[in-house]
Amino acid sequence: MFKKYLYIILFIVAIIGLSYVQYQYFRIGLNLAGTQFNENMGDAAKEIKNELKIKNELTFLVGSAISKDDLSFRLSMDSIQDASIYFMNEFLQDKLLEHGIKTGYGFSLYQKDSTAYLSSKDSFTDEDKLLRYPIILEGYLPDLLGKRLILELQFENVNRYFLSQLNGLTIPSIVFLFIIIFVIVWVYRAFYLQMNLITTTNEFINNLTHELKTPVFTIGVATKILQEKGHEDERELIGMIRKQVDKLKGQIDKVLELGSIERKRGFINKKEIDLKPMLIELSSNFEQVSKLENFEFSFDLKGESYMTMADEYHLENAINGLLENAKKYSREKAVIALEAYKEGKYLIIKVRDRGIGINADDLKKIFDKYYRVSDGDLHHAKGYGLGLNYVKRIVHLHKGKIEVESTVHEGSTFVLKIPLLKND
Ligand code: ADP
Repeated sequence: MFKKYLYIILFIVAIIGLSYVQYQYFRIGLNLAGTQFNENMGDAAKEIKNELKIKNELTFLVGSAISKDDLSFRLSMDSIQDASIYFMNEFLQDKLLEHGIKTGYGFSLYQKDSTAYLSSKDSFTDEDKLLRYPIILEGYLPDLLGKRLILELQFENVNRYFLSQLNGLTIPSIVFLFIIIFVIVWVYRAFYLQMNLITTTNEFINNLTHELKTPVFTIGVATKILQEKGHEDERELIGMIRKQVDKLKGQIDKVLELGSIERKRGFINKKEIDLKPMLIELSSNFEQVSKLENFEFSFDLKGESYMTMADEYHLENAINGLLENAKKYSREKAVIALEAYKEGKYLIIKVRDRGIGINADDLKKIFDKYYRVSDGDLHHAKGYGLGLNYVKRIVHLHKGKIEVESTVHEGSTFVLKIPLLKND
């Protein structure tokens, strides 16, 4: 679970980091575009200034317009002004294009501290955002007027112009970034669905094999009794059934084992669940076994429901293990009781037997892996010393506790404490 979130966080950090780097590149790009624009503008301004120094058709026309001298033309003053704006515009546009400046512009020809003589017709909406390039004119025109003349070039929305120049880079980088995000989210989702599928399949196999276990076990016990009590001529047949049942048991155990190997990664799979139905079923099954095998078993499950955060399958295995032990470690007819009740924040499950008991020294070690009490008497009880270790691990994985009380020759009581959900 932790790893899952770690990967998501790493992914988000990487994407944010990458976007930040892209953004910085983008800013550098904008700055470069700005610098280049200024350089080009500088060159263009120089050329414009040079060409307007001398008297030529354009400067003569402009000169006439601003000095309001219409003697040389058979035109009205307004037409002369319009014509000079038109030709000035053409001239400036050529110069700007020659220097690679393709954005919209305006111009204004004015004398310092006074109103403009000539202005391009385009009016700009936001005067504050205008980028202005003043060119102080020399030569013919200022000499004609005897005043300082300034030709100002104005550019609006240069940033948008720079952006359009950078679009070839920004749009692909945004598109690629989105493709990366999309692919990773998609792969992650597919992986997650696959994991879910594996878990569900595992759960299904576990449940199925588990469901098979009880009837097979009961058939086994029943045939064992039949074989002992039955007629001589039936025994062979019953023996065959027993053999096959044992085989089936072995197969089921194998599948269950496989399931737990698969489960190792998550090992237990807890969910909100009422344990009462499971305990009822488990007790009834064991009661059936007690009738067949002729021992005493009683159970008492107090309270309506036992809401816990639990892996039902493993807990059931653990309790079954305790019941099996109670049966296994009883000398004569076993007397076993299972009790469950709620106490404070815990569900208490007690498995009590009147069996051989465990002495104080061994009692400390019975939960250790492979530990078995080395009593000469006990050798009829088979085992590997793994059962109680498993029970303890499962209880701890449920944040619960396990306790045991025992007196030699009198019996033992195993107590499991499983935390209840707050609302139960
Ligand atoms: P196994 O039963 O395979 O030997 P367990 O881990 O289940 O392994 O038990 C460890 C030891 O604890 C057993 O060998 C047995 O001596 C002792 N033990 C377990 N349960 C009981 C019981 N109910 N009464 C007496 N002794 C028990």
